[in-house]
Amino acid sequence: MNVHEYQGKQILKSFGVAIQEGIVAETADQAIEAAKKLTEQTGTQWWVVKAQIHAGGRGKGGGVKLAKNLDELREKAEQIIGMNLVTPQTGAQGKKVHKVLIAQDVYYPGASKTAEFYMSVLLNRQSGRNIIMYSTEGGMDIEEVAEKTPERIFKEEVDPKVGLQPFQARKIAFNLGLSGNAFKEMTRFVSALYKAYDQTDSSLFEINPVLKTSDDKIIAVDAKVNLDENGLFRHPEYEAMRDILEEDPTEVEAAEHNLNYVKLDGNVGCMVNGAGLAMATMDIIKLAGGEPANFLDVGGTANAARVEQAFRIILKDPNVKAILVNIFGGIVRCDRVAQGIVDAYKNIGEIPVPIIVRLQGTNADEAKKLIDASGLKVFSAIELKEAADLVQKVVA
Ligand code: GDP
Ligand code: MN
Repeated sequence: MNVHEYQGKQILKSFGVAIQEGIVAETADQAIEAAKKLTEQTGTQWWVVKAQIHAGGRGKGGGVKLAKNLDELREKAEQIIGMNLVTPQTGAQGKKVHKVLIAQDVYYPGASKTAEFYMSVLLNRQSGRNIIMYSTEGGMDIEEVAEKTPERIFKEEVDPKVGLQPFQARKIAFNLGLSGNAFKEMTRFVSALYKAYDQTDSSLFEINPVLKTSDDKIIAVDAKVNLDENGLFRHPEYEAMRDILEEDPTEVEAAEHNLNYVKLDGNVGCMVNGAGLAMATMDIIKLAGGEPANFLDVGGTANAARVEQAFRIILKDPNVKAILVNIFGGIVRCDRVAQGIVDAYKNIGEIPVPIIVRLQGTNADEAKKLIDASGLKVFSAIELKEAADLVQKVVA
């Protein structure tokens, strides 16, 4: 689960990570209030207005702006709140901005003495260890750094049995070229950051930039925090951080019905029971020359109500030109699934795209007869290859 920058920073702060302080606002008036309060709290003379969307590269798209007085602040907040922000990470359609973070200016006079670093914590699945990735080249596109100057990206692996060791934090501070107080601050920053990542069951923390201020403080200016959804039950306090405005509405609806649905870019809708079979179905569609429009696992109980819900979800995608239903009848009998499909079809009314049904397993032959006799625009197949070829024929 992704969270906004301001929420990620709250999490970081609760673990003792130094951050660029800020207050979130939804209107220009709230932005002014936030700015005044922030100045009381931190003494900041200038403020930064930062669009809160689940995507990076906001600065490049005009979603991060410095304001040097309250008039400018109002103007910039008005510009950014409600704007459709397009960044290298949002895709061409962009994202609507509902909130801004009013943050203290941390690049205060003496900016020539500041330095921007990159730091992330993530899981290395190959070694089964957490890894701290860091670079002197912060504030810019890290993918570009990785491509052009890979030698400027360092990695420190952490053994989860013993956790981050003090010598590792010192090594990181040293590799970043720090000394004196900044060195000490960085070792503290790294330790707190790792602890926050570890104890929140996160799958990614990315801080870009980590700033060394002109007076040698080390602070997180940005925060991309991705909490592992499978660990969320251990952290109910973070569940409220979910912002469904940032998620695909169809995926949200599917989740409400306990359907595992992920939207993709192709034109063949898939309805499958079991995640493994769903993956294999997508593969076979590709092999037959098609492109899957989604991943959808209806789970173990493929009854009429669930099948109907699944059809409705798949049909919300205007790119869908055909639907392939691939159900294995193990405990659930194929003829009951077939009846469910016929019932769902009748309840929904006219389904505008052809449906290819492949039911295999217990009572597969009865199921095929039931579908063939229904008189609906449904093609049935028992072999998967046959089904995939049928799909190809109808979308071609
Ligand atoms: P991103 O573009 O989505 O990655 O958003 P960031 O939070 O990283 O901000 C983008 C850029 O805005 C940073 O790299 C800084 O150059 C700039 N910025 C952020 N905070 C401040 C600040 O307090 N003062 C000034 N002058 N610039 C800032
Ligand atoms: Mn950033």
